[in-house]
Amino acid sequence: MHPIVIIGSGMAAYAVAREFRKLDPDTALMMICADDARNYAKPTLSNALVGNKAPAQIALGDAEKMSNQLNMQILNHTWVKQIDTAAHCLSLEKEGQTTQQSYSKLILALGATPIRVPLQGNAADQLHVVNNLNDYTAFRAELDQKTAQRVVILGAGLIGCEFANDLQQSGHQATVIDLAEQPLARLLPSDVAQVFQEKLQQAGIGFELGTTVNAIDQHADAYAVSLANGKVLDADVLLSAIGLRANTQLAEQAGIQVSRGIVANTQLETSVADIYAVGDCAEVHGTLLPYVMPIMQQARALAKTLSGTTTQVHYPAMPVAVKTPAAPLTVLPIPHEVEVSWTIETQEDGLIAKAIDANDTLRGFVLLGASAGKQRLSLSKLVPDLIPAAL
Ligand SMILES: Cc1cc2nc3c(=O)[nH]c(=O)nc-3n(C[C@H](O)[C@H](O)[C@H](O)COP(=O)(O)OP(=O)(O)OC[C@H]3O[C@@H](n4cnc5c(N)ncnc54)[C@H](O)[C@@H]3O)c2cc1C
Repeated sequence: MHPIVIIGSGMAAYAVAREFRKLDPDTALMMICADDARNYAKPTLSNALVGNKAPAQIALGDAEKMSNQLNMQILNHTWVKQIDTAAHCLSLEKEGQTTQQSYSKLILALGATPIRVPLQGNAADQLHVVNNLNDYTAFRAELDQKTAQRVVILGAGLIGCEFANDLQQSGHQATVIDLAEQPLARLLPSDVAQVFQEKLQQAGIGFELGTTVNAIDQHADAYAVSLANGKVLDADVLLSAIGLRANTQLAEQAGIQVSRGIVANTQLETSVADIYAVGDCAEVHGTLLPYVMPIMQQARALAKTLSGTTTQVHYPAMPVAVKTPAAPLTVLPIPHEVEVSWTIETQEDGLIAKAIDANDTLRGFVLLGASAGKQRLSLSKLVPDLIPAAL
């Protein structure tokens, strides 16, 4: 019997392996990944400075340790180049050598890739992105090496705002730029975003909104960041956090249906037999949710399916805690096809915003401030499941 093969070594891949091993200690399991297979919690990357964690302290285990712990063969630094779905066989490439690997079942946990915008200037390629531990190590190396530490962040989404807060709190000067007129434009109504922004500004974070970066040029040891609004910002380190795109190419080449992500049904099956998709690469039941809680739900369901009990994923309301201590924020994102109107209740240190649909049902919320955050559980219970435990 060929092994169950997981492609990827991110949270989704390790969560599936861990949940599967709880149910089945023996069936052959193999992980194949392009990176070194270190196991770490990616969310730690955007608050590691305040947590006083050096990049080398973030990993919880290397490939050898994880292989022993999970009784799983790990092929790291290995790219999967092709999937032959009819033959249940993968083409692998490591250090220029090509090999084949058969699978019984295949789990695609391929993640997502940071979007990059083309920029002008002699230092346009100096923009860091942080979507894995290696990226973060390179970002921290430049940060640590420079003395004056003005950091310009492109993108005022969740990751951009979290990094801004972490940098500001650890003695740097962060400035965030976004094309939208508000931070967290995909997650917050504008009135709430304004209060959120004010709190971050009170902590010293700068914002340049409604504009974008045209060019980045290096002068001596610093960068000049030219904005579309005519301003020029000086920076020592540059970070781009303008969003991620699901990695769908490998699946698409194999004839697996893709849309914004790799299309999967509520049992996490793709359009091709014996191939499943999880994590940031997966569009499950029409929804892309690139967060930790959906990954854990997916991993539990898929582990049961792989061990013989076909199981649907359950998506209850899964609020996301944004790691911005200057403005503690919890958001339950609204499904994108749902029309809502917002009601906003002001609290002593923040506010509660509720997204109500045409049937008067709560579909999402925003809790800003520590006392509002306490409503997280009680409000979550009022929101209908995105995918019920069993359809
Ligand atoms: C800075 C940051 C902070 C975050 N904070 C939070 C938070 O507070 N809360 C929250 O809920 N979510 C947060 N997230 C999102 C969360 O971390 C992600 O949803 C999650 O880590 C995605 O895991 P993944 O396994 O799907 O993808 P990834 O971690 O991207 O893993 C993809 C894997 O696939 C491998 N791979 C891809 N293609 C191939 C191939 N062809 N061959 C071999 N290997 C391949 C890669 O090498 C990698 O190992 C954060 C994200 C970031 C970047």
